Amino acid sequence: MSNSERVIVIGAGIIGSCTANYLLKQGYAVDVIDPALPGSEDQCSYGNAGGICPGSCIPNSMPGLLKSVPKWLLDPEGPLFVRLAYLPHALPWLLRFVAASRKWRVEEISQAMRDLHRYTFECYEPLVREAGCEELLQKRGQLFVYETENGARNSTYSTDLRRRHGVQVDLLNAGEIRELEPALSSVFKSALYLPEQGQCPNPGRLVAKLAENAARKGARFIRAKAQGFIIGPEGPRAIQTDQGIYEADKFVLAAGAWSGKLAAKIGDRVPFESERGYHVMLPEADTGLRIQTISADRKFVASPMEEGLRLAGTVEFAGLDAPANMKRADILMKLAENMFPKLETRNVKRWMGHRPGTPDSIPVIDRSPRHRNVIYAFGHGHQGLIAGAVTGKIVAEMASEQAPSINLEPFRVNRF
Ligand SMILES: Cc1cc2nc3c(=O)[nH]c(=O)nc-3n(C[C@H](O)[C@H](O)[C@H](O)COP(=O)(O)OP(=O)(O)OC[C@H]3O[C@@H](n4cnc5c(N)ncnc54)[C@H](O)[C@@H]3O)c2cc1C
Repeated sequence: MSNSERVIVIGAGIIGSCTANYLLKQGYAVDVIDPALPGSEDQCSYGNAGGICPGSCIPNSMPGLLKSVPKWLLDPEGPLFVRLAYLPHALPWLLRFVAASRKWRVEEISQAMRDLHRYTFECYEPLVREAGCEELLQKRGQLFVYETENGARNSTYSTDLRRRHGVQVDLLNAGEIRELEPALSSVFKSALYLPEQGQCPNPGRLVAKLAENAARKGARFIRAKAQGFIIGPEGPRAIQTDQGIYEADKFVLAAGAWSGKLAAKIGDRVPFESERGYHVMLPEADTGLRIQTISADRKFVASPMEEGLRLAGTVEFAGLDAPANMKRADILMKLAENMFPKLETRNVKRWMGHRPGTPDSIPVIDRSPRHRNVIYAFGHGHQGLIAGAVTGKIVAEMASEQAPSINLEPFRVNRF
């Protein structure tokens, strides 16, 4: 298919790279603008936990949230941290986050998440095949482990939500956990096993390979920082960058946690925060873990990666500019001590990245109401890897005026 129109994609993370690939399939000429190299450590897409989960339909903000938050905030090893000086800035977002925990809203968000994530494998498969990296898409299931016998059984609402959305959830006892994942220590007494979920053992390499594939098919990757849109009589016609001006017919804003500022420049204000997350890579931790495992009690993820074991988690509110606090990464190692009988932490590598967070856990996938030729694809929060290929496909459908594969109503930019 050929198409005389040029599309500029701002951002070359997982969302931008998948979008570039799907736009190329529609025959567009594609430019991708990003100061960072695709798959590099500057991108949130580099350091995530690798979960590719079609059954991910549990919002971050759930009923009962207000009971847990004070406990988390007071616990120095807890999963949530707000830097005090940053609290006034984050407060309006946090209030919206709490509002999203109302049950009727959770039901709506959960449906939207399932719709967006359901076909993650189907949408990635053609991309990884073309890019020659099929090994980066693994269907091995996902485990949520609990340190008490009733832990798994007590998570009734989330299990009910998943099952209502057709997601298979198996309840395991201590013996069954050991049989499925012998790498885990005997501290876990119950678990939820979701066999249809999957993982990517190197999310940074996945982005790099997808970008490489797009470049091979003609996309231009431009190392520049977008500063704003240049508006002509018929709306945006070019992007001003620190390296010059780039013209196009259509624009996709996929700049992750940095998207809010660029959208605001053309009048679309989205409540948006960086939910800073951390990981440690343990290249010498030869645990034998096969399945991505989430400690439901301690709120962190252990993922087997090509380069070792990755422990990931934490949500920290401190904005885009504050330096990383690597003590938060070190806490992950402490939390994981009881998950593995012996955890080798030599040559540990620490990382912090910016999750692009909306307060209702779902992204903005929409046209700018003011400028039809600007498409938003940002705010994927904790699920951008899962939603990357699906989002790319939907954006390409929107660009070419085709009916979108899913109901996009929940993802409107002006829903807040
Ligand atoms: C610890 C942790 C664990 C996670 N685990 C998972 C998981 O298991 N599964 C999952 O699905 N998700 C997970 N996530 C979330 C996931 O990583 C993100 O949702 C996803 O990476 C967002 O992708 P993105 O392309 O929007 O953003 P990014 O990867 O951050 O890419 C945005 C790009 O925009 C560029 N950019 C910024 N400003 C400009 C500008 N002005 N001009 C041009 N370019 C610009 C940046 O340089 C960057 O390259 C996790 C996140 C963290 C932090």
